[in-house]
Amino acid sequence: MAKKKGDIRGVITLACTECQERTYTSQKNKKNDTQRLEIKKYCPRCRTHKVHKETK
Ligand SMILES: [Zn+2]
Repeated sequence: MAKKKGDIRGVITLACTECQERTYTSQKNKKNDTQRLEIKKYCPRCRTHKVHKETK
């Protein structure tokens, strides 16, 4: 079942796959979404849209 340590109600951090900048936080429903999120968002460090991946 769900791990307790560091697992705060489905809050996730999204990091740029290019520069690893952690630009966004988000939430997800862990019941419905068990895979790592990948969202294309604007990265201020790369100054363009890059794919952001869920990180810990
Ligand atoms: Zn970036």
